[in-house]
Amino acid sequence: MKMLKPGSTIGILGGGQLGRMLAQAAAKLGLQCHVFSSEADACSFQVVQRATLADFSDQAALERFARDCDVITYEFENVPASAAAFLAQRKTVLPDPKVLETTQDRLIEKNFVRKLKIATVPYASVDNVAQLVAAITEIGVPAVLKTRRLGYDGKGQVKIRKPSEAAAAWRTVGEAPSILEGFLNFEREVSVVAARTHDGKIECFDVTQNEHRDHILKTSYAPARIPASLVAEAHGIAKRIAKAFDYVGVLAVEMFVVRRGLAHMLMVNEIAPRVHNSGHWTIDGATVSQFEQHIRAIAGWPLGKPVRLGRAKMVNLIGPEVDDYAKSLKVPGASVHLYGKGEGRPGRKMGHVTTIVP
Ligand code: AMP
Repeated sequence: MKMLKPGSTIGILGGGQLGRMLAQAAAKLGLQCHVFSSEADACSFQVVQRATLADFSDQAALERFARDCDVITYEFENVPASAAAFLAQRKTVLPDPKVLETTQDRLIEKNFVRKLKIATVPYASVDNVAQLVAAITEIGVPAVLKTRRLGYDGKGQVKIRKPSEAAAAWRTVGEAPSILEGFLNFEREVSVVAARTHDGKIECFDVTQNEHRDHILKTSYAPARIPASLVAEAHGIAKRIAKAFDYVGVLAVEMFVVRRGLAHMLMVNEIAPRVHNSGHWTIDGATVSQFEQHIRAIAGWPLGKPVRLGRAKMVNLIGPEVDDYAKSLKVPGASVHLYGKGEGRPGRKMGHVTTIVP
């Protein structure tokens, strides 16, 4: 893989805040970005000069986009497989679109993790009500039914408290192919954001501890309050997953910390083949951010050594909370990030505020 020269163009599929922050990191390194999004009000468009507003099925638009880019990446994991494959025939797409085939489907993803002998939440495949009833018997309640594809921020999920709720739960997920997971009484949620280069070098950020509200990430802390042995294990898990994918770029692995007597263990919940909300603290709190690491990796550049600059806390501004941004601006040491998204509709990630205590 050649090192891109400054001035080269990185194509980004998707136009949300992650694409916006990737483009900002690319600009820091003298690289340009071309954003492809199907949404007219995509907030990434505001920070780049080259943009394509088109559907992911528009092959003429994809063709023009590919011609304009030196390398292509994505900022959301539900990029249609057909678009990623079309582009990959024309330009290098990183991480390899094969990764999407695994991470777009919760069942394939969990099977992949299990094959690496990494613990996951107990799960079973569910294609009809009879299988759901059998899965509830096997896994027990409480449990959570999740659609295999296209679920995020708690969408496409329903909790099952009693076996008699099976039929109603099946209707709630729209009778779509799903998995049933045991509902864990976890001690905390953590994630590892890791970057890997084409020649296999990996750098992990400190393990981050995450708190959700209404299924949406609200607050992240780094470092996570877990013992050093668990930190090493969490990093080891992320590295094994990145290596198994022959991954190039940044990925995040979300895990549950579960107590087993006096010991703790980690169970993988999800893999995000992209930069991740739980890594936003790295913009202000580390010597290199997750966004810069991703750009470096896909540009064929060496990774930075991520050194944390203090104890980090990142709070998401969700929906109308963004209207209070002026209060955050007055907090000493707070770094305010607004995504330029306009209206703060409920559940929408509008910005975040990071504080670093040296
Ligand atoms: P997901 O869409 O799988 O990332 O789930 C969103 C959030 O729901 C997770 O971050 C957890 O807070 C919670 N959650 C998901 N799956 C489980 C589970 N099996 N047990 C307990 N909590 C869960």
